Amino acid sequence: MIAKKKSASQAKSKTAPAKKVARKVEKKSAVKPVAKKATPKESKKVIAPEKEVLMMQPPRGMRDILPVDQPYWERIRKALAVACQEYGFNRIDLPALEYTNLFIRSIGEGTDVIDKEIYSFVTKGNDKVSLRPEMTAGLARAYIQHGMSVLPKPIRLFSTGPLYRYERPQEGRYREHFQANFDVFGENDPILDAQIIHLAQRVVSQIGLKNIEFRINSIGTAESRRDYEKILVRHFEFQKQKLCQDCRNRLVTNPLRILDCKEDKCAQLVMTAPKFADHLDQESKNHFKSLQEYLNELEIKYVIDPQLVRGLDYYTRTVFEIYSTDGEGRKTALGGGGRYDKLIQSLGGEETPAIGFGLGMDRLVLEMQRTQVKLHQEAKPRVFLAQLGDLAKKKSLRVFSELQKNGILVAESFGRGSLKSQMRAANRIGADVTLILGQKEALDETVILKDMVSGTQETVTQDKLVIAIKKVLKGNQAVVIKKDASFEAE
Ligand code: AMP
Repeated sequence: MIAKKKSASQAKSKTAPAKKVARKVEKKSAVKPVAKKATPKESKKVIAPEKEVLMMQPPRGMRDILPVDQPYWERIRKALAVACQEYGFNRIDLPALEYTNLFIRSIGEGTDVIDKEIYSFVTKGNDKVSLRPEMTAGLARAYIQHGMSVLPKPIRLFSTGPLYRYERPQEGRYREHFQANFDVFGENDPILDAQIIHLAQRVVSQIGLKNIEFRINSIGTAESRRDYEKILVRHFEFQKQKLCQDCRNRLVTNPLRILDCKEDKCAQLVMTAPKFADHLDQESKNHFKSLQEYLNELEIKYVIDPQLVRGLDYYTRTVFEIYSTDGEGRKTALGGGGRYDKLIQSLGGEETPAIGFGLGMDRLVLEMQRTQVKLHQEAKPRVFLAQLGDLAKKKSLRVFSELQKNGILVAESFGRGSLKSQMRAANRIGADVTLILGQKEALDETVILKDMVSGTQETVTQDKLVIAIKKVLKGNQAVVIKKDASFEAE
């Protein structure tokens, strides 16, 4: 969907250093003869060069999320927490691993997720398990297992964590990605569908994304969907040869998926295919109409997309997706979801209508970076604590802890011995106050407090330190404000 050439070269550049290491290792072992013959035990320990290279990077399609990117993730987490509070969602954490059968029964055979993307394996205890490729199946399992049907409805659950899909990796498409899911159980009314779309919009706008498009569709009840699938099969059957190989298979396994095939030749054929809207049952039609009225009421812009079917078997009625657009035709899918009114029942629970959606957090971060969303500056320490000598080093831990308890953020470089290098560190972070604790101060239970703005310093007893720091910080704040004011006056 958002394939980018850049990603291929990025992938190359990522592996390049590893290849270099491999070559180095090979070269080394070629030049240096082995001095003594390894015993069988020793030779077992030797790691093959390729293995060593592989260990220096995560498996393909997986990646580290480095500190430099964390402020974006943090902003998303905060927006999610606010949404949970505003809309009354309770968090639930689920295992990343479930029995494979659960996914097959929920998502359905013939879907890309089950046929191509799921990571499955057999455990030492001979259990067939899979890393979750999506969140809903586990959620439905937990709902039934914990007897949630007795709780007052609707039940609103929020879950977040990694998902695993064996897809072709590229930028924005990873084999391990992270989603935030919001699900509501026990309510059929389309007002819930509208509310959940509203929630999605709220989160996305809270993190600073502006150009958002919702695409919505109704795929009817399970029965009307089955009827429509028959009509579709009849339509495509006699022009089967013109479909791509995947769609020829889908004709047998999952005909609806032909509608959202990205191949040009299939998209051409889809244009003349019978429309779902013309075969929708009356109840679903009314449900979909009400949803549109609610969205209009909320002033949420949406596009009705008859081709939108979503890839998983459990969906019924409302399906929707959220895109970020750049005004030049480029669209990035940020999330999607829909109703799954029959899933709980099909897994052995009570009949429970439900709706949910997942936001792709990795994609949110990429879009925030692409659109240069401004992040709030986190509070930075304005106090630096320097120490000199073993006793002072020990005592400075207590001073640090005291200041922390009183809400004063403190920076330090405890590992450094020289005062000069510590003062340099204090200057680097732009500290307003530097505290110096030497042997004498440690014995006297005092601290030297240096005001870095005026350059003055005084010795303060440790029990008065908090008050003294707050006084200097307050004074300096005034100086900074005054300076800014005079600057503006000029
Ligand atoms: P889906 O349920 O497959 O539509 O996924 C919901 C959202 O998760 C998508 O709209 C993407 O934002 C995100 N997503 C899905 N698959 C991946 C992936 N392989 N890598 C990164 N993000 C993904």
